[in-house]
Amino acid sequence: MRYPPTTREARISEIFSSLQGEGTHLGERHLFIRFEECHIHCEYCDELDKPARVMTLDETVETVQKLEKEEGPHSFVSLTGGEPLLYLSFLSRLLLRLKTLGLRTYLETNGILWQALEAVIGWCDLIAMDLKPASVTKERSFLKEHARFLEIASTKEIFIKIILSKEIDLQEFQELIQLVKRIAPKTPVILQPISSLEDGLEGHEDPELMQLLGELQRMASRQIAQVRITPRLHRILKIR
Ligand code: SF4
Repeated sequence: MRYPPTTREARISEIFSSLQGEGTHLGERHLFIRFEECHIHCEYCDELDKPARVMTLDETVETVQKLEKEEGPHSFVSLTGGEPLLYLSFLSRLLLRLKTLGLRTYLETNGILWQALEAVIGWCDLIAMDLKPASVTKERSFLKEHARFLEIASTKEIFIKIILSKEIDLQEFQELIQLVKRIAPKTPVILQPISSLEDGLEGHEDPELMQLLGELQRMASRQIAQVRITPRLHRILKIR
């Protein structure tokens, strides 16, 4: 990490009001705080090149209050990234301040840093966690970390997102679904096509990929309660 985590400051790329483009709260108005930096490097990531600046805790909270007043009400303040849990000391203070203001908090995370989640889960109203198939990310497998993370996260409202490309290894997909079945089988699982294919198309514009997702959805639905396919709404609407 280029910036040492502190309690008072964090590197933030943007704070803005928009529609939630993913998951079980798709289409709701959320206030987004996007943290810079991630500790892994998914091959398809489109978030890590965004410029960021150092913001203090007070400055961040003031910006949230201003946006809530001018563009709210928002259903949630969504902490996203990058990986927000990298900024644990800042994040725990920020979450506490947001809760004190009566705002609902939504933590969007790659589902790996379970020790950090343990420290802040008391102030999170909703957790949107990823399961990362190594065959798609080209990173290592995080099966053990995901399992521990899900055990902790499932004490709150939660959904799981799996980003998929045509390179998904079926055995690995099956292992991820088995993990959900074993730990929290009622958790909604969102299958999301990868964004920005090499030819410039969005994943949902590729019929072969969408057919594959349909087959995976059928396979997973035989084992766990709720499996949905959703493209990223903000990419379709061409909004932030
Ligand atoms: S976990 Fe998310 S932010 Fe981190 S590299 Fe992967 S896609 Fe990008």
